[in-house]
Amino acid sequence: MPSLGGLPEVPCARCERRVAGLPWGEICPQCRSELSRRASRLAHRISLAATALMAAYVAFRMPPDPMARLYGAIAVLATYIIVRRVSARVAMEMIR
Ligand SMILES: [Zn+2]
Repeated sequence: MPSLGGLPEVPCARCERRVAGLPWGEICPQCRSELSRRASRLAHRISLAATALMAAYVAFRMPPDPMARLYGAIAVLATYIIVRRVSARVAMEMIR
């Protein structure tokens, strides 16, 4: 297939499908989306485990007043969001 705009066709580092304009050593959009789906599933599992640990910590260590409980709930939510974001990026690098 001739490339549009004169970009060289470079084979994907994973499936070896030729893609125009792909940087050398990079993976094609199809592989990338497949990897990001897998990374996202993995990140979901990791972040659920981290969130469960955080929730257990908050439940045992926080004083039982409503404000502390609210901050605890926010911390648990933040743990999920941060761990999910970080582990998705790490997983993306590792499962290549
Ligand atoms: Zn590929």
